Amino acid sequence: MNLKDKVCIVTGSASGIGHAIAKRYVADGARVVIADLKLDAAQKTADALTAAGPGKAMAVEMDVTDEAQVNAGVAEVVKAWGGVDVLVSNAGIQIVHPLQDFPYDEWKKLLSIHLDGAFLTSKAVLPHMYAAGSGSIIFMGSVHSKEASALKSAYVTAKHGLMGLSKVIAKEGGPKGVRSNVICPGFVRTPLVEKQIPEQAKDLGISEDEVVSKVMLGGTVDTEFTTVEDVAEIAWVFAAFETNALTGQSLNVSHGWSMT
Ligand code: NAD
Repeated sequence: MNLKDKVCIVTGSASGIGHAIAKRYVADGARVVIADLKLDAAQKTADALTAAGPGKAMAVEMDVTDEAQVNAGVAEVVKAWGGVDVLVSNAGIQIVHPLQDFPYDEWKKLLSIHLDGAFLTSKAVLPHMYAAGSGSIIFMGSVHSKEASALKSAYVTAKHGLMGLSKVIAKEGGPKGVRSNVICPGFVRTPLVEKQIPEQAKDLGISEDEVVSKVMLGGTVDTEFTTVEDVAEIAWVFAAFETNALTGQSLNVSHGWSMT
């Protein structure tokens, strides 16, 4: 199993978990597309990964909620590299509020990035995967695809939704050689999580240390954060695995926070 020369689009890969996945794939010889909001950040990441090799990376400016930009980005990749073997729909944000205070525009923004983004990018790559008779789609879910936390109504709703979408793609794609799976990380110390620590401390009326030790890591077996490298390793397995034996699944990588 390896990703040598495979064309892998990773959304939201100028930062955090997506960046680590892109790095892992390039280290295995893949051709990786850094698809992110800002072209300069994506280009900087792509240049650094190409320099590290042995695979290579290209940058594409893509807001995953913008259908025209998603379609243009995928067309650019197909023109440059001939097809798409792997999609990691990873781009995401977090917004926390008690439900009664959740601004409707923020609810719609979060759902759109996670769910419309997964839908639009999958829709754009599937015809190319079907034409090739193979492909792997990976959604970045979360332990919040299976569990709930206070203040996270939009995020928990979106992450549960990705589980349903992935299973439908597994059913539709199976006969055409396309697999779909969900990775469900626990807390990983990326900018997305750093931002939440003071916000949750304020909303819950507790200290930032308590947010980390109780809210974020209280349910793990060892009060450890999951790392971006841990998540990237699972993303490598889902991408490189070669048969429909592994489809329609979700895998927690969360220090035992969720065991379901
Ligand atoms: P991050 O903030 O470090 O990175 C997110 C990336 O997504 C950024 O590069 C950002 O520019 C990009 N992005 C945001 N909106 C976008 C859009 N509309 N179109 C294209 N790109 C966009 O966050 P992260 O922690 O690496 O999160 C990545 C994914 O992992 C998210 O889906 C998140 O929900 C999920 N996740 C994170 C954790 C965690 O603890 N960090 C846990 C479970 C799941």
